[in-house]
Amino acid sequence: MFATHVCLRGSAGVVEVAFTDRHGGVSGPPFDSLDLSDTPDRELELAENSERVARALGVSRLTWMRQAHGREVMVVSSADSPPISCDAMVTSVHHVALSVRVADCVPVVLADADQGVVGVVHAGRAGVVAHIIEASVSTMRMRGARVVEAWVGPHVCGGCYEVPAQMRDEVSAVVPAAYSCTTWGSPSLDLGAAVGRQLMDAGCRVTDVSSCTLESPELFSFRRDSGDSGRSAGIVVLKELAV
Ligand SMILES: [Zn+2]
Repeated sequence: MFATHVCLRGSAGVVEVAFTDRHGGVSGPPFDSLDLSDTPDRELELAENSERVARALGVSRLTWMRQAHGREVMVVSSADSPPISCDAMVTSVHHVALSVRVADCVPVVLADADQGVVGVVHAGRAGVVAHIIEASVSTMRMRGARVVEAWVGPHVCGGCYEVPAQMRDEVSAVVPAAYSCTTWGSPSLDLGAAVGRQLMDAGCRVTDVSSCTLESPELFSFRRDSGDSGRSAGIVVLKELAV
């Protein structure tokens, strides 16, 4: 179920960070089996998948956003908040499991376990150019965060993410670290490197727990599966310290 699941203790509580893989759900091929997308007509199985992940994390539900490839950051105050159009969420409320959906884009989890502020970010190509990372870290700091830990989750790697040369030029003009080549020598983008650079420039401590979605059969990949792909999630939840 989890490609990565780590805990971080701080004076404000325990932060749980998780990135899902494709195992442990009920969906059939080609979405087997832990698809966390929001596809219409498959609500029942997707709700079951989402509930299984919530149960494994000890929370009542996962809190999602309506991702729009922009730079909108929302502060969430309740686990029951309906999905809002944004690409990052921040909260200081315990047991709210902020969740980002991905299938090649870069999922990022942010946390200051001492100040009790956590966040998730959907960092695709457009989000990298729109500086969604900086906007998210800035919102965390406005909520009191100081030392921000960041985890970069599974995404399509620079060796696989082929793009037209002009697109590579446009993106790397904004974030030079994005400039890359595929393993077969054509223009590509390294979104992980770009996100890592933006996180470090924003003063975060970065832990890279990524592997390539396109190369790993354990993960969903939009590019590999021609769009007929499930979605994985990056999740963060702040809990009280056990007494
Ligand atoms: Zn790759």
